[in-house]
Amino acid sequence: VTSVGTDDKTEVREYFNTEGFQRWNRIYSEDGTVNKVQADIRVGHQQTVDKILGWLQADGVKGESICDAGCGVGSLAIPMAELGAKVAASDISSSMANEGRQRAEAVLGKATARARCSFSTSDLEALKGKYDTVTCVDVMIHYPTDKMQGMVSKLGSLAKKRMIISFAPKTWYYDILKKIGELFPGPSKTTRAYLHTEEDVRKALKAAGFTVRRTEMTATNFYFSRLLEAVYARHRKWKDG
Ligand code: SAM
Repeated sequence: VTSVGTDDKTEVREYFNTEGFQRWNRIYSEDGTVNKVQADIRVGHQQTVDKILGWLQADGVKGESICDAGCGVGSLAIPMAELGAKVAASDISSSMANEGRQRAEAVLGKATARARCSFSTSDLEALKGKYDTVTCVDVMIHYPTDKMQGMVSKLGSLAKKRMIISFAPKTWYYDILKKIGELFPGPSKTTRAYLHTEEDVRKALKAAGFTVRRTEMTATNFYFSRLLEAVYARHRKWKDG
């Protein structure tokens, strides 16, 4: 029996270690040559990061432990460490995680990076431990519908207080864009993209014992990301508000 999940994962790992790394490392930088679509995605992604940092700043995260699963090159992990959190960032792609580590050392300095912003290569499914907050941004797009609930449940098992997750929402507009993309895939290799309905994601969060507390939506021309903060129902501080 071929497992779709394994095939997808192998494909995702290989992509983000090769062409995907080149492409996304450039998008997730302030400079570097990017085309118009990539420039638009860069702006949209930064908006998502800023919205999360806004939430964390409002709550205060000094000393909190945060697991950033599927961290990419550290676009969120590094500023979270700057806010005073202790961040464990990981990514299935060693190229992405290694770039993240180098960026963290450049921004935070070696000593602080080592103390507060670690990077490792790991499939999020293999992560262990307990963290106050688990963040997982723009990773769900690589998960097929039937694997999404398991992914949310895994992330939930790592989170003591809350999860902050984002996904490409399955709306008619984005569905059409995706279909157009499939008709004209362009010269560069890419991965399959999976969209999710908010209803499905909320169901998965509920099944994991989490309740949605804050939401955001970021939409530019080519970047669509629904952002949810969900808190663990049994965590007293959040439950009592
Ligand atoms: N979260 C980062 C950010 O917002 O800057 C990176 C987003 S990038 C679009 C998606 C990342 O998810 C890639 O770096 C990819 O390697 C990673 N990824 C995909 N599937 C993963 C998995 N099962 N476990 C860990 N990382 C994964």
